[in-house]
Amino acid sequence: MQNTIVTYTPEEMKDIRQAYDEMILCIKSKFSEEDERQMFRAFEIAVDAHKEQRRKSGEPYVLHPIEVARICAAEIGLGPTAIVCALLHDVVEDTPITLKEIRQEFGDKFAMIVDGLTKLDGLHKSTSQQAENFKKVLTTLADDVRVVLIKMADRLHNMRTLGAMPRHKQLKIAAETSYIYTPLAHRLGLYQIKTEYQDLCMKITNRETYSEIARKLQETKRARTAFVESFIQPLDDALKNAGFENYKIFGRPKSIYSIWNKVKQKKVTFEEIYDLFAIRIVLDVPRAQEKQKCWQVYSIVTDVHTPIPERLRDWVTTPKSNGYESLHTTVIGPDGRYVEVQIRSVRMDEIAERGFAAHWKYKGGKDDSYNVFDAWLNNVRDILDTGDGDAVQFIEDFKTNLFNEEVYVYTPKGDLKILPKGATALDFAFSIHTDIGYHCQALKVNKKLVPMGYKLNSGDQVSVITNKNQKPSEAWLKMVVTGRARSKIRSSMKEEKRKQGEFGKEALQRKFKNLKIDFEENVEILVKYFGFQSRVDLFYGISIDEININNVLKNFTVENNKLVEIIEEVEEVVPTPASPRRSRKPKYEGKPKLRVGGQDADQYNYQLATCCHPVQGDDVFAYLTATAGMKIHRTSCPNATHLMAHYGYRVMKAEWVSTTNTNFIAELLIVGIDSGPGVIQQLSNKISNSLGLNIRSFYIDGNEGYFEGRVSLLIKNKDQLEIAIRALKEEEGISSVTRID
Ligand code: MN
Repeated sequence: MQNTIVTYTPEEMKDIRQAYDEMILCIKSKFSEEDERQMFRAFEIAVDAHKEQRRKSGEPYVLHPIEVARICAAEIGLGPTAIVCALLHDVVEDTPITLKEIRQEFGDKFAMIVDGLTKLDGLHKSTSQQAENFKKVLTTLADDVRVVLIKMADRLHNMRTLGAMPRHKQLKIAAETSYIYTPLAHRLGLYQIKTEYQDLCMKITNRETYSEIARKLQETKRARTAFVESFIQPLDDALKNAGFENYKIFGRPKSIYSIWNKVKQKKVTFEEIYDLFAIRIVLDVPRAQEKQKCWQVYSIVTDVHTPIPERLRDWVTTPKSNGYESLHTTVIGPDGRYVEVQIRSVRMDEIAERGFAAHWKYKGGKDDSYNVFDAWLNNVRDILDTGDGDAVQFIEDFKTNLFNEEVYVYTPKGDLKILPKGATALDFAFSIHTDIGYHCQALKVNKKLVPMGYKLNSGDQVSVITNKNQKPSEAWLKMVVTGRARSKIRSSMKEEKRKQGEFGKEALQRKFKNLKIDFEENVEILVKYFGFQSRVDLFYGISIDEININNVLKNFTVENNKLVEIIEEVEEVVPTPASPRRSRKPKYEGKPKLRVGGQDADQYNYQLATCCHPVQGDDVFAYLTATAGMKIHRTSCPNATHLMAHYGYRVMKAEWVSTTNTNFIAELLIVGIDSGPGVIQQLSNKISNSLGLNIRSFYIDGNEGYFEGRVSLLIKNKDQLEIAIRALKEEEGISSVTRID
């Protein structure tokens, strides 16, 4: 390591060594001298390889792989093999070290994992390189789960240290994280990591809300602790009386993200949320007694506090498909407040917190008749095998199967099948066997015929009637949700399309021949023009007369044997929604002032996105669309995550220039008690006269004494909007006023 002296200061070298030693102390499993030698060798290689790199914060780069290794050991519970690979995870990509050298030094297994961790280089083949990269990771996942676990640790450390990055990069990384890493962490049962991802993402995309909730949690902490104690005390006594000794009972705060989610979903304020915590009882009992003891504790809990029967969840008898096991109930605590109680064993607790990694530790303890993780991995392999190579589609399929909860259904013989929630009878057919899916003619649920798209409920018994002449059609895609069924149907459709498309191809060839232009070159121009993924779609479209090629070619001229699109100038259109009770409609006052990528935005043809209506003062970013110029979105826009995850390279930083006098459109949702026909009068009076704001449109809807109003306002900036929201909330009969995302 003589080279390193030049590039690290003695203090840095000391810090690096110390970080390594601390990391080694975090390894929970026993390891041999050989393991130790290998880990130290990986450390030496990493220190030397990264010697010329620094992180954005200025510290030596090598501290990053060491910290990733520490997270693997301490927070995921991985052993020496994963530590070696974590230490080496960035060397092949960023330094002269090659995969071959790693194979020579450590062997095939290590090289395979490190390869999985190495991003694909520079091939900009697909719309989203991120998707390609992730597909690669998942391909290796099927061979060795550690690849994904190390990747999770890598992402976690990057998220924790995002502060040093420029804002637009923070947004892009946060979007990727919530798009794919969070659902995957959920699926792998890495609860701790998932929760931290969610909080860290929210801290970036919704900075203000995040710190507001954090502050309120801090302020109410003391009162909450007192409440938890008054709840736990009688339970603790009752458990002791019943002879329980080895257990822990404690209150667990919910994450900031999950609290925010409740605020949004239930349209309530922070103060109105009662369950800011859950009570957890963790029993140290032998595995054979787990179930019985959990139910015994349930019985004690419900003797002390009254339960709400509909809120009982038994994932002890049937674990969730991400491996989660626990018994949940909600009871009525002191002051009539609802409290969730989670009952589980030490083993279940560890699996719930660390998921997949902990799962291996306990594997083989019980005769696992249905191993949820193995079953899931088989699904991953299926999607990979049948995928048609389109990475973005693959990730979409994957996510459908990642996010969803599940339903439990049965074959006619009584075998259990676990499918994602929302899965249909046709999904079931594909889950049995591809051929059964392909030739599915009719389906019976509980002995009655149902449509193919019938949504399954837990407990349904499903049987499939096949016919060898049956085959999948386009319409089937709308009747399935599982990745397996979708990808099977799609590959069958693709084959059909390809056959059918031959006619379209021939027609196009004739047309191009008449125009005397080259086929190969110009066909791509048309594929791009329609935004198709492949030529097959174009040929197919022509063959079924969906595309009239003569009409299409009117939009082109031929220059130098090439098709050139004729572009017309398009007037800017301001959307004017039809409104049944619209008030006066003032003029929209030109464009607001922005800076994009640090420069005056006027050089771009930009518009404010109509999906999230940003106003001056909102956190925003610029997005360069493929065909409609530049759009400005709020960072909290529901579309933002998708855009940033898929088209991160089109995202640019945007800031407001605060001196403008432009009007912005903001939409509010006002909910209240309908006190009679005067309500519109009352609200519009308040808005126009007291607040001096212009109403652009006003829809109102209500029945049985309750109303919902959607009002679109013209305002100058975010402060003005907030003052308006506060003032409207104080009006008589109004229960909530929220800005529509
Ligand atoms: Mn890394």
